Amino acid sequence: MTETHRPGLERPPGLTITRQHVPPRPAHDAADGEDCSTDGILFVGTGVSSALPHLEHVLSPNASCPTCLDAANNPSSRNRRNNVSLLIMHRGKNILIDVGKTFRDAAIRVLRPNAIYKIDALLLTHCHADAVMGIDDVRDLQRYERPIGPDGKKRYLPVEKLPTYLSQKTLDSLSKQFHYIIKASQATEPLERKVTVLDFHLLKDDPSAAPDLSTFEVKGTGLVVTALPVWHGKPYVCLGFTFAFDSDERVVYLSDVSEVPHDVRDFILSLGPIKILVIDAIHWEKQHFSHITLQEALQYVLLFQPEEAYFVGMMCDIEHDDATEKLNQWLDDERSNNSELNVKKVALAYDGLKIPLRCPPLNNPSSTTTAAAAQRAPSPVPVDALKRVGQPSALQTPHRPICQSPGETPENTPLPPVPLGGGKEPPDR
Ligand SMILES: [Zn+2]
Ligand SMILES: [Zn+2]
Repeated sequence: MTETHRPGLERPPGLTITRQHVPPRPAHDAADGEDCSTDGILFVGTGVSSALPHLEHVLSPNASCPTCLDAANNPSSRNRRNNVSLLIMHRGKNILIDVGKTFRDAAIRVLRPNAIYKIDALLLTHCHADAVMGIDDVRDLQRYERPIGPDGKKRYLPVEKLPTYLSQKTLDSLSKQFHYIIKASQATEPLERKVTVLDFHLLKDDPSAAPDLSTFEVKGTGLVVTALPVWHGKPYVCLGFTFAFDSDERVVYLSDVSEVPHDVRDFILSLGPIKILVIDAIHWEKQHFSHITLQEALQYVLLFQPEEAYFVGMMCDIEHDDATEKLNQWLDDERSNNSELNVKKVALAYDGLKIPLRCPPLNNPSSTTTAAAAQRAPSPVPVDALKRVGQPSALQTPHRPICQSPGETPENTPLPPVPLGGGKEPPDR
């Protein structure tokens, strides 16, 4: 592989890493009945926005793309990649990052074999189709009671609205594309139809706010998360996330990124040792306006020096077995040149890859109580959807196209605003 180098990615020499911005993880006592036996992360999807196999590469009698043909012909192929999505399994709770176009397929191929039948919270990175278009199917992982309505017919009463963490811009987009979900989430009466019902919490998405970023405890899960605003085709912002399972098992998740803003880089470097970095890598070397290449992702690996790095969002020029071999060789070369390199593994993620992470220690005296940690963790702004009935201006941003970057079109020209209730997202490639 030839190396490219993005200026400004040098790890500062002699950098002292201190944990300073994120509040301590809440204390945990397994005696409270929580099940930590499955704690870890599960890759629900790892592919480009079109997913793999890329339809254009297989729906032809002359199809010749070996990666896509393998993905199409071999159901267990690691080249078969759904839209990027990650499940965080924490103390018996399931926190899902993103629900893209392929969520339904991913639920069958990945969640079901892992006995994941419910979601306890949802984190949304941004509002492109490959991050949110599967939200309609989330209803099948929610629980509802079935009260009888005044007309004698059964209704749907959600047991709980799904806590959902997102930026205002993503909420604006959802309010247009999924207005019936917003309406159901606002309802005070049982629903006539089964609809996804969400409880929205807003996160800051201004990179210049770093290090003052949104840090919050995901409702009902004990997981403390910080949202990381990154460029996804500047000036469009996507949220990454970071969270820790234990004092030395921190995960940094950057699924859709063209550049990590300088202040956000510094924030990540201040977090302390990173156990796992999950990072975007769309092509080997071919530049893309809204995603980094695998070569650029490797530069971030050298910068952040996680113990293990996993790549996601790959197009079919990155074939699993071929890339695995080359990445192993790259790491061998880097380690032979730098004996102090902390990185022990670099690999392509694949749909269904599960990485166990340790439970917090029992009754750790250095830990804090959940309530105390939550007090220190600034909460995101809850959206009181009920107050916004009939106030579209609160949920929509007028005079501005919703959820698109000027760079999202080949001509770099803005698209017209998405029409209410029927519009399509601009393509994410
Ligand atoms: Zn292909
Ligand atoms: Zn995107």
